[in-house]
Amino acid sequence: MPSPVSKSIEASAFPKIKISARGATRIKDGHVWVYRSDVAAADSVAPGSVVQVLDERGKFLGTAFYSSASQIAIRLISREAIKDLNGLLRDRIRSAIAYRERFVRDTDAYRVVFSEADFLPGLIVDRYNDLLSFQVLTQATDGELVRKAVLAELTDQMHPAAIAEKVEPKIRELEQLPARSSGLVQGDKGNTIFSMNGVRFHYDVKEGQKTGAFLDQRENYAAAAHYARGEALDAFCYHGGFALHLAKQCSKVTGLDSSRPALEVADRNAVLNGREIEWIEGNAFDVLRDYAKSGQRYDAVVLDPPAFAKSKRDLDTAVRGYKELNLRALKMLRPGGILVTCSCSYHVGAVEFLAVVAEAARDARRELRILESRMQAKDHPILANVPETGYLKCLILFVSD
Ligand code: SAH
Repeated sequence: MPSPVSKSIEASAFPKIKISARGATRIKDGHVWVYRSDVAAADSVAPGSVVQVLDERGKFLGTAFYSSASQIAIRLISREAIKDLNGLLRDRIRSAIAYRERFVRDTDAYRVVFSEADFLPGLIVDRYNDLLSFQVLTQATDGELVRKAVLAELTDQMHPAAIAEKVEPKIRELEQLPARSSGLVQGDKGNTIFSMNGVRFHYDVKEGQKTGAFLDQRENYAAAAHYARGEALDAFCYHGGFALHLAKQCSKVTGLDSSRPALEVADRNAVLNGREIEWIEGNAFDVLRDYAKSGQRYDAVVLDPPAFAKSKRDLDTAVRGYKELNLRALKMLRPGGILVTCSCSYHVGAVEFLAVVAEAARDARRELRILESRMQAKDHPILANVPETGYLKCLILFVSD
């Protein structure tokens, strides 16, 4: 039976948008974004349209999603002319799923679709065992046709017990989209248990509305557990991702977070895995300073704070924050200890992040060896020509004795 959205749309039906020479160069160089300042007047183009992108002379460059609100006015979905948008969306979903089948291991929770990195800009889909959660970030992916095609293909391919939409009101506001609430859009199962690397976690559609789990750290959890021994501290522990993995190897694990609701889930996760972990509610900056002063020592410390640099403007403050935290952690680490230190700020690059940690080591008079310089898990692909798709840094360091 043909689905109600299988109607194909002729390429010629898509409005045309001309972009500047600078914008065209960016596209030819392999990027997928064109900023508003590089787009000629597009007054007649409806928000969220699929458009044909042309250079100044009218040469066709690709097919894109258009946003009337974002500074990123154009996000390329194909370098070809498209006749059947619905078919393209379904192909994209299928190949995103196939990529995970090939490269994701030891888990039933992973990112199924990662926006630009899966050539579906503005769409994020996560799997938590039998539940799917999705997020639309742009006018185009909020459209009914895109929603229906995406949900239909996800259902056909993955047969989830339920699908929930996660809404971030701030993003909808910035995209000038009407308010919408989070919740189940298909099925009625609201919670489940997922596992990664043999560790089990609770997932609740309602609790997860804000963040879900930090699936991008999944491979780093396993790596951290591989090196850590003795007494461990997981600062910024959220639902206990690192702490629960460390508990496999360490004699004692403490998790620290400023959010009580997050710690409550973390504790339920510990019970689920039959682990005893000490949870402390507090501000990591204060607790680490007090511990460092009072002579508290650890054999392993994990630092995974929220993004300190949300924009380029915050860079200096962010760097100071990272330096401070790493300095305090290094002061608490015993010789032979392991520091796992992360940054999810895109604006602090891998080279800068290592420089900050190295500076903290000099100040703390500790010698650090780099065991591993890691990034986000493979279900959050990084496009070689779209640097913005890579954001997570995770250094695993050995404190020389
Ligand atoms: N390591 C976690 C993810 C951490 S997300 C995982 O792998 O799942 C960042 C966490 O830092 C959030 O849980 C947030 O509540 C917490 N947080 C933010 N500011 C904090 C602060 N100043 N002190 C302690 N925790 C903080």
